[in-house]
Amino acid sequence: MKQTKLWINGVWETTEKSTELKAPYTGEVLTKVAKATIADVERAIEGAHETFQSFKKTTAYERAEILYKVVAIMRNRKQELAEILAKEAAKPLTAGLAEIDRTIATYQFAAEAAKQVTGETIPMDAAPGVTDRIGYTKRIPLGVVSAITPFNFPFNLIAHKLGPAFAVGNTVVLKPASQTPLSALVMAHIFKEAGLPDGALQIVTGSGGELSDTLVTHPLVKKVTFTGSGAVGLKIKEKVGLRKVTLELGSNAAVIVEPSTPLEKIMARCVSGAFGFAGQVCISLQRIYVHQSIYHEFTKLFVEETEKLAVGDPLDKKTDVSAMINPSEVERIKNWIDEAKQQGAIVATGAKFTDRTCTPTVMTNVKAHMKVVCEETFAPIVSIIPYNTLDEAIEYVNESELALNAGIYTNVLTDAMKAADLLEAGAVVINDIPTFRVDNMPYGGVKMSGYGKEGIKYAVEEMTDLKLITMKLNY
Ligand code: NAP
Repeated sequence: MKQTKLWINGVWETTEKSTELKAPYTGEVLTKVAKATIADVERAIEGAHETFQSFKKTTAYERAEILYKVVAIMRNRKQELAEILAKEAAKPLTAGLAEIDRTIATYQFAAEAAKQVTGETIPMDAAPGVTDRIGYTKRIPLGVVSAITPFNFPFNLIAHKLGPAFAVGNTVVLKPASQTPLSALVMAHIFKEAGLPDGALQIVTGSGGELSDTLVTHPLVKKVTFTGSGAVGLKIKEKVGLRKVTLELGSNAAVIVEPSTPLEKIMARCVSGAFGFAGQVCISLQRIYVHQSIYHEFTKLFVEETEKLAVGDPLDKKTDVSAMINPSEVERIKNWIDEAKQQGAIVATGAKFTDRTCTPTVMTNVKAHMKVVCEETFAPIVSIIPYNTLDEAIEYVNESELALNAGIYTNVLTDAMKAADLLEAGAVVINDIPTFRVDNMPYGGVKMSGYGKEGIKYAVEEMTDLKLITMKLNY
């Protein structure tokens, strides 16, 4: 059986130990994956530090050209890349192709951003008694960035780390999720072909729990950028010390549906937001608060639309929802649904299981304390909950400590503005689902959902230091 390798200093390195990578939908063993040791990670960090000494001197033009070449190469390999996602993550092909398109856009934004890293002129003479002095700022790269990424958007979430890091001249040690190493490793080939110097991208595969201390606390690591669960994010925050850190964590996305909403126009969109990639999306629509005057109509239409979804093989173009990332996740969510049912919840549709899949599930009659409502489900489950007043709905949404995006459908301008002000979230999406994201917008949660922002321009700020230069014009 084939075994993947580590990508360190431009060399594919074999390891003594490996783990099996199984396809989530079939259970078939796809390959063995190299298991890095702590010594491997240390070498990767040291190599990235050495490469930084020359990479930081490359011009913005040169770095943009590398990123533009990545864009061009990926455009020619879309189908092959989407198939990697189907195999290692059970992402249905259409969703996989959509992720590849977004990844290409992310690298393109990064290429454009490389040429727009600017500072500002400081009016030094605005301070009392200061004359004959100029001041300006510039953004300078940090050095080695440790990037730790999750399984659910392995191409695009890696792009949100590599793109801005390379745009400004940082080097990166990447530790992808154990379930999705292949999408990371193929990027090593693509960056090599695009002309990235050896050592600027190092890829170490293996257990996050075992390698994390080195990735997070090695003295040569200047920044940690992590996307994943809140529990792991919190551990990283506690260890990271004075290094810069960005944490993109889990959520529990909610939308409010006001009575002015044309239901038939939003139904397919809401269903796709709830069940895309089997709900394993950080801004998957999990709670839908519907005004009581339209609650029954909404629920009926939503269930009808949900029942149109096809569950099956991710490589089949007709599949909407495929396997969950591993069988233990199916078991977890089955228990959560059973527990909610025992507490009075009703399954309006779905909750049919195999060892690997869960059909799209709509729950009603839920209570705020049920796990399916108050915790991140990260599964194909949505709860529909009635409310009486907008104030009450906003309060319900804000009950969650998880707060990436929140949404509201309303045609009443003042209500939209009220929700924009009062919803506690990294972003408020008006007249669309909270699952909306494009890759140049500032993105990142508040409360327990994160720390710092991504979205290329914003990540560039977080991946650089602001330096002031001032000169006295007369001695
Ligand atoms: P996860 O279990 O937290 O894993 C994420 C990454 O962290 C993996 O590479 C994992 O490695 C590594 N890791 C595990 N334990 C670690 C530790 N102690 N220290 C450092 N790294 C460690 O998350 P996941 O299951 O892959 O992804 C799902 C979560 O990510 C959800 O909560 C979701 O909402 C969140 N997410 C957030 C965003 C966002 O932008 N805010 C986007 C996507 C997903 P191993 O795989 O080897 O364990």
